[in-house]
Amino acid sequence: MRWPHGATWWCGHLAIADSGNNRIMVWDGFPDRAGAPCDAVLGQANMTRCDHNMSSYYPSAQAVNMPYALAAAGERLIVADTANSRLLGWSNGATASDARWLSCQPDFASKGDNRWGRRARQRVLALWPIDAGQSGRNRGQWEQPRTVVGVGAVIGERLIVRGQVQGVGFRPTVWRLANELGLTGDVRNTSEGVEIRVWGAGSDGFEKALRAALPALARIDAVERRPIVAAPPSDFSIAASAGEGMHGAVTPDAAICADCHEEIRDPFARRYRYPFANCTNCGPRFSIIESGPYDRARTTMRGFAICGECGAEYADPADRRFHAQPIACHACGPRAWIEHLGGGTVQHEAFSMLDDVDAAGGMLKNGHIVAIKGLGGFHLACDATRADVVETLRARKARRGKAFALMARDIEVIRKYAQVSDEEAALLASPEAPIVLLRASGEALPDAVAPGLDRIGFMLPYTPPPPRSAPHGAPGGDDLGQPLGPSAMHG
Ligand SMILES: [Zn+2]
Ligand SMILES: [Zn+2]
Repeated sequence: MRWPHGATWWCGHLAIADSGNNRIMVWDGFPDRAGAPCDAVLGQANMTRCDHNMSSYYPSAQAVNMPYALAAAGERLIVADTANSRLLGWSNGATASDARWLSCQPDFASKGDNRWGRRARQRVLALWPIDAGQSGRNRGQWEQPRTVVGVGAVIGERLIVRGQVQGVGFRPTVWRLANELGLTGDVRNTSEGVEIRVWGAGSDGFEKALRAALPALARIDAVERRPIVAAPPSDFSIAASAGEGMHGAVTPDAAICADCHEEIRDPFARRYRYPFANCTNCGPRFSIIESGPYDRARTTMRGFAICGECGAEYADPADRRFHAQPIACHACGPRAWIEHLGGGTVQHEAFSMLDDVDAAGGMLKNGHIVAIKGLGGFHLACDATRADVVETLRARKARRGKAFALMARDIEVIRKYAQVSDEEAALLASPEAPIVLLRASGEALPDAVAPGLDRIGFMLPYTPPPPRSAPHGAPGGDDLGQPLGPSAMHG
C-alpha cells in the first residue's frame, strides 16, 4: 500500500483508496488479521500493477490516476479519481471491472480540468445518489445501471452451508429454488459443505426458502452468509466441485424411497426389478464414497459408465435423479447374480422364471441359507417361518441364544407377527431403516428366532426388494423371511 487516502465500508466490503498505487483495494468483509491480502483491486488489471491510468496517458473505465477519496452510496462505490479530474462510480467489486458511472468528464477517456463549468448538463451530480427512477433524463454522462433491479443487482451473497448437504440432492434443490425465485449465481460442493452464490431481488428470502424446501435426507447445521460484489452470471448453474477432501459429515446410506420402490414394481418402468435403483432421495452414500467432495468420480460407481437414458435423467433438473451420483439401471449399473458357496453358477431357472434375485427368494423358500451381499456387508438370510432352517443357521453361526433380526417386505407383513404402533411404523419406514424391537403377537414364529424373548427385532429392506411375481412354495412364505446375521443385531 502506498499513500492510502481514503477508506469506506461498501456493502460488506472494505475499500481503501491506495492512491500511490493508482488503485482501490477491496476486501470481502473486514480483514481478519494483519497483512491479509485484499480480494480484488479496481483501477488495475491485477494485483501486481500500479501504473497510473494503466500505463496510458488517457484514462478509461477501468483505470484511475491517484484516487484520493472514497464513499459508498447504496450499491455504488464513488471514487474521486483526483488526477483525472473526475468522479467514478463502481457497482462491481471484481478486479479490473469497469466503472459504470462517470461525472465531470464527457467520457471515460477524457481527463481535462474544469469540465464541470463548461458542461451544465453534468450538474446531475446533485441528483446522484440513487433516484434512478426520475433522474434518467438529467443524468448526463451517468450511465444507467444495466439491470432494472437496481440496488442489490450486483450485490450478491455467498452462503457456506454445513451439515448433511452432499449427496442428498441439495444442489439440485438449490438450483430449482434459485430458478423459481429468479436468482442467478451458482452452487458447488466444497470440502466444507456447499457454497452458494446468489444475486437478485429475491435473495433475501433465499435461505428461508431453502430451509423450507430441504430434500428428505438433507440437514443444515450452520449457514454462514457474506455479501459479495461481483458481476452476476446470467443464469444459475451447478458448478464443478471445489477443493479436496471431505471435512463435513458423510451422508449415511438411505433406504429406498417410495418413488424408487414404486418404480421397481412397475413392469413398464425402465428399472423394473432393478436391485440397485436409487435417486437423490435414497440409496447408497457412505458405503460408496472413497473421498470428497461427493461426486460420482470419487465413489465406487466411477467404474460404471452412465448410459444415455440415465445421463438424460442426471442432467434433467425436473428429474428426481438430477445429479444423483449413484444413478444406475439395468443397462449401465451393477448387476446381481447368485453363486454357490463353493463357486459356480446357480441355474436360476430351478427357482425362478425371472432372474437371479428372484431365484434367491426361491432358494430361501426352499430352505436354503443365502448370503446376500448388500451395502456395507453380507446378510445371512433364511426363511424365518421354518424352525429347522433357523436352527441350521444357528448351528452354522455357532450362535446359541442371541436373537436374530427379521426382515419383512412391508409393515403389513410385520403386523402379522408383532404389534406396531404409529411411532414404531414411522421408525421402521425412516431412511435409516433401523431394526425396531416389537412386541410379538399374532402368528407365532419358531422359538429359535428369538429364544425366550417376547420381543422380536424387525426391519424393512433398505435396498430395493424386487417383487415376486410367481408364487413359490408355501403360501405366505413369500413375504417373510430372512433372519439376519449377527452383525445386524447390534441395534
Ligand atoms: Zn429413490
Ligand atoms: Zn443407465
